[in-house]
Amino acid sequence: MIASLILSASIAFTASDAHFAFECASNLVANCTPRDAGTVRGRIAANWILDTASAAGLDIRRDVFRATTPYGERTFTNLYCEFVREPSAEWVVVMSHYDTKPGTACPGANDGASTTGLLMALARSIADRGGVPKGNLMILWTDGEECIRGYSENDGFWGSRRAADELERRGRRVRAAICLDMLGDRDLKVTVPDNSDSTLARISVHAARRAGLGDGFITSIPEEVKDDHLAFMSKGWRAIDFIDFDYGSVPGRNDWWHTKEDTVDKLSVESLHASGRFVAEFLNIIL
Ligand SMILES: [Zn+2]
Repeated sequence: MIASLILSASIAFTASDAHFAFECASNLVANCTPRDAGTVRGRIAANWILDTASAAGLDIRRDVFRATTPYGERTFTNLYCEFVREPSAEWVVVMSHYDTKPGTACPGANDGASTTGLLMALARSIADRGGVPKGNLMILWTDGEECIRGYSENDGFWGSRRAADELERRGRRVRAAICLDMLGDRDLKVTVPDNSDSTLARISVHAARRAGLGDGFITSIPEEVKDDHLAFMSKGWRAIDFIDFDYGSVPGRNDWWHTKEDTVDKLSVESLHASGRFVAEFLNIIL
């Protein structure tokens, strides 16, 4: 125990991690577009995550499950990479969806792939540094964040609802659930929607400062955003969404969101580096 404590360093996200995150996002888009949940191409994307994580030396677990959709039952796949330091302690969950908006042929470079790549690089960085310094961390790639017709009981958030149910079923206590979405935009403006936990929102300001990103890096907005964090909130756990929901050719137009324009050229390594440093510091505080 003492040896493992000495071996594990605090969590970091370097420039080389950011390059790896960008490479992962680009490869996911190149190999798996579109990757709508419940389709064969969605399963190819899940296999791509599994293969990429294995090649990076990560121990990754797959959860394949069936769920009802507006078009009948479909198969979904969540992927987990867990770092256990204190088995009886609480868990921190950090998640990104990897699926694309059904029926849009959207490459989802920013919406899905950017944070999928970020989590891959973060997981590799943590593993290379000997695991988490304390507590327990679950890195989670969710399937089926996007709804087919409109969010409802049987439409959208299939992966996050499954993951939250599984945590509850296993009796794991969750200290915080952190949802990352659309954080690779080269014109990055990270926001915390109103339907996030206020304590975690305050911690995020400290994390940005500690990461050297300045007070303006995170902005709280009065709007609510439907995202994967809601499944965890509904269990009574603290949860927060970090999202840059201004994604288009002109501020406020959002014309790259859920369209064929959501391409890799709209991302930057610098934005992924800033988002990654921020998440690393957030975890160093919350774990
Ligand atoms: Zn989306």
